Order: sequence, then structure tokens, then C-alpha cells
Amino acid sequence: MRLGSGTFAAGCVVIEVLGVALFLRGFFPTPVFSGAERQAESPASEPSAGASSNWTELPPPLFSKVVIMLIDALRDDFVFGSKGVKFMPYTTYLVEKGSSLSFVAEAKPPTVTMPRIKALLTGSLPGFIDVVRNLNSPTLLEDNVITRAKAAGKRIIFYGDETWVKLFPKHFVEYDGTTSFFVSDYTEVDNNVTRHLDKVLKRQDWDVLILHYLGLDHIGHISGPNSPLIGHKLSEMDSILMKIHTSLLSEERETLLPSLLVLCGDHGMSEAGGHGASSMEEVNTALVFISSAFERKPGDIRHPTHVQQTDLAATLSIGLGLPIPKSNIGSLMFPVVEGRPMREQLRFLHLNTVQLSKLLQENVPSYEKEPGFEQFKVSERLHGNWIRLYLEENNSEVLFNLGARVRKQYLDALRTLRLSLSKRAAQYDVYSMAAGTALVLEVLALLLLSVPQALGSRAELDVPLLSPVCSLLFYLLLLALVALHGAVCTAARSSCYLCSLPWLAAGGAMALTAALLCAVVSALTRTFASGTCLSQNPPQSTSRWSELDLLSFLGTVGHVLSLGASSFIEEEHQTWYFLINTLCLALCHQIYRNCFLGDDCAPQRCPHMGEEFDGVTVALQGKRAGPEGWELSRAPADPSSLEALRGPERWMVLASPWLVLACCRLLRSLNQTGVQWAHRPDLGHWLTSSDHKAELSVLAALSLTMIFVLVQKRCSLTSKVAMAFGLLGIYCYRAAIGNVLFPWQQDNKDISKGITEARFVYVFVLGILFTGTKDLLKTQIIAADFTARTVGLWEIYSGLVLLAALLLRPHNLPVLVLSLAIQTIMTQFIWKPLRHNVTEVTVMHYWFGQAFFYFQGNSNSIATVDISAGFVGLDAYMEIPAMFLTAFATYSGPVLWASHLVNFLTSEASSSSALSRACFCYALICSTPVSVYIVLVTSLRYHLFIWSVFSPKLLYEGMHLLITAAVCIFFTAMDQTNTKS
Ligand SMILES: [Zn+2]
Ligand SMILES: [Zn+2]
Repeated sequence: MRLGSGTFAAGCVVIEVLGVALFLRGFFPTPVFSGAERQAESPASEPSAGASSNWTELPPPLFSKVVIMLIDALRDDFVFGSKGVKFMPYTTYLVEKGSSLSFVAEAKPPTVTMPRIKALLTGSLPGFIDVVRNLNSPTLLEDNVITRAKAAGKRIIFYGDETWVKLFPKHFVEYDGTTSFFVSDYTEVDNNVTRHLDKVLKRQDWDVLILHYLGLDHIGHISGPNSPLIGHKLSEMDSILMKIHTSLLSEERETLLPSLLVLCGDHGMSEAGGHGASSMEEVNTALVFISSAFERKPGDIRHPTHVQQTDLAATLSIGLGLPIPKSNIGSLMFPVVEGRPMREQLRFLHLNTVQLSKLLQENVPSYEKEPGFEQFKVSERLHGNWIRLYLEENNSEVLFNLGARVRKQYLDALRTLRLSLSKRAAQYDVYSMAAGTALVLEVLALLLLSVPQALGSRAELDVPLLSPVCSLLFYLLLLALVALHGAVCTAARSSCYLCSLPWLAAGGAMALTAALLCAVVSALTRTFASGTCLSQNPPQSTSRWSELDLLSFLGTVGHVLSLGASSFIEEEHQTWYFLINTLCLALCHQIYRNCFLGDDCAPQRCPHMGEEFDGVTVALQGKRAGPEGWELSRAPADPSSLEALRGPERWMVLASPWLVLACCRLLRSLNQTGVQWAHRPDLGHWLTSSDHKAELSVLAALSLTMIFVLVQKRCSLTSKVAMAFGLLGIYCYRAAIGNVLFPWQQDNKDISKGITEARFVYVFVLGILFTGTKDLLKTQIIAADFTARTVGLWEIYSGLVLLAALLLRPHNLPVLVLSLAIQTIMTQFIWKPLRHNVTEVTVMHYWFGQAFFYFQGNSNSIATVDISAGFVGLDAYMEIPAMFLTAFATYSGPVLWASHLVNFLTSEASSSSALSRACFCYALICSTPVSVYIVLVTSLRYHLFIWSVFSPKLLYEGMHLLITAAVCIFFTAMDQTNTKS
């Protein structure tokens, strides 16, 4: 069966997406989990060596009422640092002189709200993949403090972030959830929580009150941790804390037990204001326990003890007199129970150690050899001895000393157990990972082996679909894989994902793997068969490499190799900036040589591809590529054409690489990104600060005008008008939500969510896209002229530009303008006159697309994903539109450059197979980094930065591959219409 190379490439990318999905499923570990039944299990009784201790029940609660005040993104220095002293006087007083205990609780990455809430309440470490599920939190099924408290008959009231209500739909006797996705609102979200306080504090009908304040986090997302708004917010929080504390104190006189107020954060806030990664600022959160049960002592405000965030679950359970959640890997914060009698202290420690060692038994086959388990056994024996002495009422000093020894033993055991359990939390499903990797690598091999044919003169491939399925090899392989799968399925102790799939799906995956392997083998034999007859005269083919080919080859290889180092991933933008700058210089060199020396080596004589091929394929390619190649329809005819260019145009050609370089420099200073230098001042921060609103407004208005000027000239009249209205709507939208000002508007008095304005723009986006598609379809049916086709395509492109302009923050509008400007310059003065071949143009588009991804402020950390883009024009959270909009806003650079490539090739190329070749080339350069990266990540899976650096990058790469698949399908669709018309 013959396939166009575009269709072939699109198919390959789709299979690769499947492979990557399978790999990701295996890579992101399922957390250490207790599979034990939930049914009421009697608590471990007090150990006793022979003597009869009959304390078998759970110890009674230590606190009557518990209030948890969770402030989202409460970084440790907001309470314990200078900001705390300045803005939170009451809390500072309590921390320094009151009866309180303060800690710095370390959150584990991903520092995103939902996984952190889960960690706080279950005491376990949720998998990294919870970040993705953060947008759609399902009910928490794991054993946790809230479920336990409800089962024990505690009445729980909740106000705040709606995530809680989704996690615990039936647990609260009363609740009011506020949505956390309108990041621009930081007043109302908190007022919605506080307004209930007065009433609830007077009431007696609750045991646990949970408040989750979101305002601080939103301020961080909008303007960073150094904004003046932070101070206001902290003061507000301080006064709320004072209100709760005084009310609790006044009530305490009537009850026997003291109450407990917990002030905590779920994660911190990076210097840029986001969170998600593992920098100190994002990981360290404040944790303060306030209760009259604790001794008043002068605390050291600057150096609170460091604990793990997961320790809170065990501590709260003990405090409320509940069993500790089964999957908990945290240990009791000992200072909380330090004031209790020795017997109780030991009992608490024993309960915690028993729970941890049970979890260890369930998850580690050789648990008896673990040091933590041995320590636990020793402490339990000592504890029993102590109980015997205690019951015999021995000398109190001896008893106390022995007790202190037991206590120390227990604390050591807890520490060791906790450590070995949290290490376990990072276990991989290696089998699924291997299956995914095999699939991805086979696709890559197939793509590489088909380079000569796919980029050859006809851009067609002979894909033998039937022969591999009928061959003996296929059946042998399938049999071997089935046998392997069966063996793994029965032998594996922990079930892997592939084994949990129904047999039909697993069988399909295996058949796909086997078929691909057969295809690779047959392609390999074909290559060698033709390679042997070529081996007589290989060397002359290498002379065909132009500088640009060499640069794109080395650049791609270099970039792929750089993915193996964490710093190169953190600062990946530098790689791309370097590559496009070098590209500009190379173009400059080519132009000048062409112009002044009359050297005609710039126009390519043969239509070969840019990268990823070795000497053999070059040789092959040179042989197969026919004389017919890629031509630009309107390019000057003779090779030394640059000399024929008239005055001003010639100067423009000479100046254009420098113009592009200047644009890149400007863009670079707009957004600092990466990790090392992300905190450096940049234009973006300057523009977004509240003092420079007027400047931002002027810039936004200018940018929108420029976008119109650059886009409109190739549109039809209808879309021109629609474009103008759409851009006007964008300005109105930004003014409505308070980002920019109208000239007649002095200050932003009434800020709305701008829903009407945003929807107004959406109407025009859809209108333009519709007109474009209609024009394209018209050329299909009535075989209209060539221009109608290019206009249609351009309209689709401008619709995407309009959507990007709406979603990007106003200070990022210049990114869009300069992207359009560079595209215009390159088309007019570089690609057209110099007649670059399809592969070169494709590589350049890809590189610029990648660079623009970083120009707009993105990085390889989860924290820079601008989730507010997903909520433009939506008044409630809708999952699918929100995800689509966020993905589009994040990847607008690569998407816009790819769609520009389609436009350029349809309007400029005479060869009908140009699009098909470009699609193949695009698929190849996009999928190579992903495939290699998967192998790299597998080998680096025990690296220190695996969760903080490599995993987020893996998610980005997966998402990028998905976008590439969409782009390739678009290419193929355009190619189909092209060949038909
Ligand atoms: Zn949060
Ligand atoms: Zn946040």
C-alpha cells in the first residue's frame, strides 16, 4: 500500500502518543498504599511483658475542638520572617510568647494544592500525576483524618476552597466551597469564608472547623510575593486568627479539655509567585499549633523545627483521639504530646510505630530486615518492661529514666521507618514503562529508516501492511510477548498497569509492538539491500550538506543530548535562544556571501532533508531524489538572483537577519524564565506592577493595532472587519478585568470577570475560523482558484492569532506582534529570495516555535503554566474548555509557527508534495526528543531531581507530542485537500 509521507508521519505520531501515554502511566508511581480492609480493626493494645495491662482502647482525645486555618501558599517567612513581624503581630506574639508550638513543614513536590491537602490529611505521598488530576479532584478514597473523624461522630464544618468539597462530598455537616480558579479575585474568595465565622464561633454544635483561605495564593499568582497586597492580606489573616483564638479561649472556660487552633499552609510561593516545583520557597510552609495545653515558653521565632507536612495527619489523629490513617507515612510531632504523662506519651508513640510497621509489612517483602522494623521490635520490648515496672509502682526516678530511654528508642524507630517508607513511595511500574518505550523507539526507528523514501522525489512510502502480519516473524514475536506478559502477570508481586488491562487491550498493545518490530526489520533489510550497492561510492554525497543543514543537524542532536542534564532542562530556553541566534547569523552569512561574492551555494540544488540521517541514508537519498525538486513559485529564477534584486529590497534582505536578531533580544528581556535567573527584573514585571498601568495600556493598544496591521492584508473583507472588532473586544476585556485602562478611566473602580467581553471575542474567533474553513471547502467543491485557498488558510491562522491575543496576558502581547513581524520578515526577505528547501524552512519554523514557547515566559516547571488563561470567559469551571484553553495559551508559540508553516508552504511552494514532506520532517524533529528523553528519564529515575526537574519536563514533552499529533493531522488534512483540488 502506498502512503503519502505526511499521512505516514501522522500515523506514526499517533502511535507514539499511545506509547508515551503507556510510559507515563508506568512512570508516575502509585503511592505506598495500604491495601488492608477499611473495617473496624481494634487498635494495638499497650505492650506488656507478662504483666496484665488492659489498656486496649484508643487514648481519649487531647483537644475538645480543633480549628484548622489553612492559608493557601503560606510560606514560612510570611509568619516567621520579617513580613510576619510586620504584618502578623498577633501571630508573632503567640509564636514568641504564647502557648504555641511552631514548625516549618516541608511539602513534597508537586507543590500544588490538591496533592498537598491529600498529604496533610492522609499522611501519605500522593503520586506526581495528581498535578494533572488537580483540575478535576475526585473523591478521596484513601484512609484519612476527615473520614476517621466523621466515623467517630465528630461534626465537621468547612468553608473555603471547593477542592475539599470534591474530596469529601459527604463528610461535612455544613460547608461553603469557593472556586479556586478565578485567580484574579483575592478579596471575595476570602470574604466568602470569613462571613460565616461570627455565627459559627458562637455555636456549640461542631467539633472540627476547617477554613481554607485562597486570597494569598491568588495574590502570589497575580503579582508575586513582594507585592504590597501581600502585607494587607497577611494583616487580614492575622486579625481573623485573633478572632478565632479569643473566641476559643473564652469558650474553653466552660469545657474540661483545651481546644486547638492549627495555622498552616499547603505549599509555599516561589519568588515569581507560582508554585508546583521544589524550590525552598515553594516547599517550606508555616505550621503553628496554638493551644492552652502547651506550656508558655519563649520560642525562637527564627529557627522553628523542620517537620514533614505528612506528619500532621498522625498528630491530628492523636489529638482528636482517632486511629491513625493506614497509609500514613508521617510521624507524630512529639512536642504536641510532650506535656502528657509518660505512660500516655509512650502509648501514642507505640500506636504510630505499629501503624508504620504494618504499612512496611504490606509494601516490603523483606520487612524483617529493615532497620526501622528491628528498632520497633526493640522499643516494643523495652516498652513492655517499662509497663511492668509502672504497674508494680516502682521508684519514680528509675521509672522516669527508663521511660525516657524507651521514648528515645521509639522516636528513632519512627524516624527510620518514615524514611524507608517515603523512599518506597517512588516506585516505578517498570514493565509498563518498558512496553511504552519499546513502542516509542520502534516508531522512531521506523521514521528514521523511512527518511530517504519519505523525503524523496515523490514523498511517498511503500508501507507493506499485509506482509508483516502474515509473516512468521510476527507470530513468533507475538507468541513471545504473550508468554512474557503471562509470566510477568503471574510472577509480579505488585500488579502493573498493563496486566490490569483487559486481555483484549493488552493483546492489542502486544500485536502493535510485534507488527511495528516486523515493519522495522523489513525497512532495515531494505535499507541494507540498497545500501550494499551504494557502498562503492559513498563519500561524494556528504558534500551536499550546506551550512544550514549542518547547523540544523547539530542543533537538533545537541538539544536532544542536553536533555540528559537537569540544569540544561531548567534553562532550556537558553538552548533555544542560542540556536535561533546562531541560525540568524548563519542566514546572515549566507546572504552576504550570496550578495557580495555572487556565490550561488545558497539555493539548494537537491531537496534533501535536514537532519537525523547518516551517511548511508544521505547516499541513498542522493541517488533516489530525482531532478525534480522543490521550487518556490515566485522566486527569482536564476541562482545568483540576489544580485538582481532592486535597491531597497536588496537592502532589506541584507538587514533582515539583524532585524530578527533585534526582535529576539527584545523578547528575551520581556520575560525572565528558567530557574537560575528567573527572579531577575524584566520588562514583564515592570509592566505588570500597578504603578505602570498606563504604560501597559499604551503598549497593549499599540500591540493590538500592530497585530491587526500584520494580519489583515491577506484576509477577506469580512474577516478584516471581524478581526478589528475582535481586537477591540480584547482591549475591552482586559480593561474590564482591570489589567489596562481606558484613557477616560482614572482608576479601576468596578472590576468584573469580563465574561461578556471575552465571549464577544470568542464569537469573532469562531466566525473567522468558520469563514476560513468555508473558503477552504469551497475550493474543494468548485475547484476555485489558488488564492481562495491561501486566503482560507490565512483566515484560519488569523483566527488562532486572535484567540492567542485574547488568552495571553497583556504584557505578552508584544510576543505575538514580534512573532508575526518575524514571520513576515523571514517570508519576504529570507525564505522567498533565498529559496530554502522544505526541510530547512520546517526546521526554522520549529526552532522559532520552540523559542517563542519560552519568550512568552514558559519554562519546564509546572509553576509557570498560566492557569488563568483557561478561565477567560467562563463563569463556572468547565473542565474540557478550560484544559483546551490553557493548553492552547501555553503552546501558542509552537502552534502558531506550525500553522504559519502550512500557510507559507501552500502559498509559496509549487511542488505538490511540499506539505507532505514538511509534515514528515516536523513529526521527525518533534518526536526524536521525546523518544530519546523517555530513555534518558528511565536511566535517570533514581536521580535526585527526578521529581522536581525531569518529571515536569516529561509532562511537557508528552503534552508537546500530543500537540504535534494534532498539528500533523492538520498538515495531512491540508495535504489531502491540496492534492484533490
Ligand atoms: Zn495551594
Ligand atoms: Zn496557587
